[in-house]
Amino acid sequence: LGSPNSSRAFSSFNRSFSSSDSSSNLIRATLFPGDGIGPEIAEAVKQVFRAADVPIEWEEHYVGDQIDPRTQSFLTWESLESVRQNGVGLKGPMATPIGKGHRSLNLTLRKELNLYANVRPCYSLPGYKTRYDDVDLITIRENTEGEYSGLEHQVVRGVVESLKIITRQASLRVAEYAFHYAKTHGRERVSAIHKANIMQKTDGLFLKCCREVAEKYPEIKYEEVVIDNCCMMLVKNPALFDVLVMPNLYGDIISDLCAGLIGGLGLTPSCNIGEGGIALAEAVHGSAPDIAGKNMANPTALMLSAVTMLRHLKLHDKADQIQNAILNTISEGRYRTADLGGSSTTTDFTKAICDHL
Ligand code: NAD
Repeated sequence: LGSPNSSRAFSSFNRSFSSSDSSSNLIRATLFPGDGIGPEIAEAVKQVFRAADVPIEWEEHYVGDQIDPRTQSFLTWESLESVRQNGVGLKGPMATPIGKGHRSLNLTLRKELNLYANVRPCYSLPGYKTRYDDVDLITIRENTEGEYSGLEHQVVRGVVESLKIITRQASLRVAEYAFHYAKTHGRERVSAIHKANIMQKTDGLFLKCCREVAEKYPEIKYEEVVIDNCCMMLVKNPALFDVLVMPNLYGDIISDLCAGLIGGLGLTPSCNIGEGGIALAEAVHGSAPDIAGKNMANPTALMLSAVTMLRHLKLHDKADQIQNAILNTISEGRYRTADLGGSSTTTDFTKAICDHL
């Protein structure tokens, strides 16, 4: 089995890797189990990888309990170095620690590793009924700037300012990634999502860059859609879209909307692409503190993220095997986690996937 769309949605990311351990033929990959449900779902991924005999050796890294002055965050320099060295990794969700004097963990990773494009595939799962059965969307989110630049301050008492940074360099880079992705994955259309009618300078520059890149890809249809209209169109008829590229905040929001179309955040994977071909896969969802430690989390999103990592490494057989086992398990319906209306624990659902390998 496999969604007719799935191989298209997940055949991904071209990079030749160099981090294999020649003595054992194992490929080293960094693993951040993360916070909240992170360790539970990361354990589920490790279990499925073991059962499928995937030749990956995980190098596990944990978020520190003190700020590392070299990163100005709780992420250690060694953790970042591990991803740089290995070139590939899988990241569990990381809660944003509240407080001053340090950077968000996710922002630190994105900035330090220059993870400039976040690719978020979202497609209907066969056998799992939602309002639509033909969703097949790729959201490509600019990942380094926009409203997430971390530049906020109080101007005077009662007035705060948050700066949205858009640069030509980052916009061209993510637009190029989106068009190249469309071209190499059999996609027909790229939609640039914006609010340039109001944010004329910032989103205006983003659109200008998208147009420039679009000219280099005459075989790909290009359109521009205002974000509010895009939300309405997605909810009304998701088949209107194919690949969507957009500034940071819009990508964060639209991909959650897309997740809602297919059954929720427990299902949607992503992969962060960095300069030099780094790939750090992670689920779209966060640390889900409301269900953490309860053996209730759906590990599908992180497992499908791990599948994108395998495709990046060109381990397509293993990727297909695991992806099909996940889709078959959900499709059969006997084992589903609570978010999909079932009563399986994370461990029972994971075991069912292993049995389907
Ligand atoms: P969330 O995604 O953690 O949870 C939203 C809702 O979805 C919750 O009801 C949760 O139970 C449910 N959910 C999420 N993942 C699920 C799964 N795998 N299985 C079943 N249900 C699932 O969003 P939030 O509550 O807004 O954020 C919690 C924390 O996570 C915050 O600290 C936030 O900053 C952080 N966060 C991190 C990332 C990341 O690491 N990339 C992304 C988003 C949020």
